[in-house]
Amino acid sequence: MGKLLSWVVIGFALYVAFKVVIALQRKSKPGGARASDPEGAGRRAQEKPDPALPLRLVSCARCGLQLPADEALERGGQPYCGQDHARLGPRAKDAS
Ligand SMILES: [Zn+2]
Repeated sequence: MGKLLSWVVIGFALYVAFKVVIALQRKSKPGGARASDPEGAGRRAQEKPDPALPLRLVSCARCGLQLPADEALERGGQPYCGQDHARLGPRAKDAS
């Protein structure tokens, strides 16, 4: 009878160890518990840009085109409307 009890104890210990390993594996995988993790989903939703934020407009240093600051291309501290104007640089003051 004592032998049977020791087997039950060993079985229970293995079961607990198995559960701990599973729990640790779930914790180490960030994407593993996506469906069953409402906290993670909430954090993901907060990463979306806030539509209530006022749109900041900047004007291209080359052609003066107004565009949202987050769409502007910055080079040398100046905003540009696109790659071409960023490459050309700011409009020359002494136009020839
Ligand atoms: Zn431009």
